[in-house]
Amino acid sequence: MTPIHSVISFIKEQYKTENFIPLHVPHFGGNEKKYLLETIDSTFVSSVGAYVDQFEAMMQTVTQTQKAVAVVNGTAGIQVALRLVGVKAGDEVLTQALTFVATANAIAYQNATPVFLDVDLDTMGLSPKAVGQFLEEFGDLREDGCYNKKTGKKISACVPMHTFGFPVHLDELIAICNVWKIPVVEDAAESLGSEYKGKPTGGLGKVGVFSFNGNKIVTCGGGGAIVTNDILIGEKGKYLTTTAKIPHPYEYVHDEMGYNFRMPNLNAALACAQLEQLNGFLKNKRKLAKEYQSFFATNGIQFRTETPETKANYWLMCVELENKTERDLFLAETNANAVMTRPIWQLMFRLPMYEHCQKDEQKNALFLEERIVNIPSSVR
Ligand SMILES: *Cc1c(COP(=O)(O)O)cnc(C)c1O
Repeated sequence: MTPIHSVISFIKEQYKTENFIPLHVPHFGGNEKKYLLETIDSTFVSSVGAYVDQFEAMMQTVTQTQKAVAVVNGTAGIQVALRLVGVKAGDEVLTQALTFVATANAIAYQNATPVFLDVDLDTMGLSPKAVGQFLEEFGDLREDGCYNKKTGKKISACVPMHTFGFPVHLDELIAICNVWKIPVVEDAAESLGSEYKGKPTGGLGKVGVFSFNGNKIVTCGGGGAIVTNDILIGEKGKYLTTTAKIPHPYEYVHDEMGYNFRMPNLNAALACAQLEQLNGFLKNKRKLAKEYQSFFATNGIQFRTETPETKANYWLMCVELENKTERDLFLAETNANAVMTRPIWQLMFRLPMYEHCQKDEQKNALFLEERIVNIPSSVR
């Protein structure tokens, strides 16, 4: 058996099936139906309801933050988070090119421009070294923040993304951003349950954002959450995402351009039932990761594991192939044999809407773009 065919049979054994094995499917094994039926019976299916409040309280506990705001999806959450930390039209936002398109889109929705910096090889997330080097070369620190010497624009946020649930080097990144007065917004869409030095991701930057889309570790069909330890920012987030309405018994008075980015109570009910199972999901996935790790150790293909000082949620597990030819072969063979695998995203500066954006050398991002492949990672 070739190495790739032994991978295919190993994955089929893990999932005990000869049928198609998807990359990631939701696992509904708890109170999902009960809470959904309760919500329908209550008639509070829409934008207010007990499950929205309960979900926000649960997210505060899970992420160890002071304030969580339920929103309609992760992309909208990042867009609002950027506004909350002060990103304005015409500003620039530092982020990685190796990410899902939503990170860059959320920056563009706020009428800001992404600047794409390299990732670290070990975390696959934004590299503190790359950010430091960029700021040494282009940063101009003024009274009111950091400006880009090349474009004259203000750099008003930095958005690291915890790729596939592997936390970035947050301490180093936040330290550099503090020196340059740049607030950090964690795109923690993929890292619910991941920890950095014992602390949950999402709660370490100024603001963090999670996604509960159908493919994430915890899903509610569609949804997101903004979390922060700054109560005022959190309250402003709730206000802006619920149409910026001044509380009044019956009058409609709105004093800012807000959004209807509320998470419906129906989705929140599903989210609560799923969050109750998060610890079980994490255990289950970490066990699968261990099994993959020992299998691949004898197979000559590199299974990507968490870095020291971090605990990954192993949301989407992945392997690193020798080179692009090996990767293409791996993708073709696995997909032809009912085992779903997918390459990592194309780098953002290849997409027509972001090809004009400033970027650095991208040495590590280019390396990983050609080699990383996701393998089936669902809870078994
Ligand atoms: C899923 C995801 C998002 C967006 O979340 P949605 O809820 O689908 O809008 C943002 N960033 C990253 C990195 C993601 O993986």
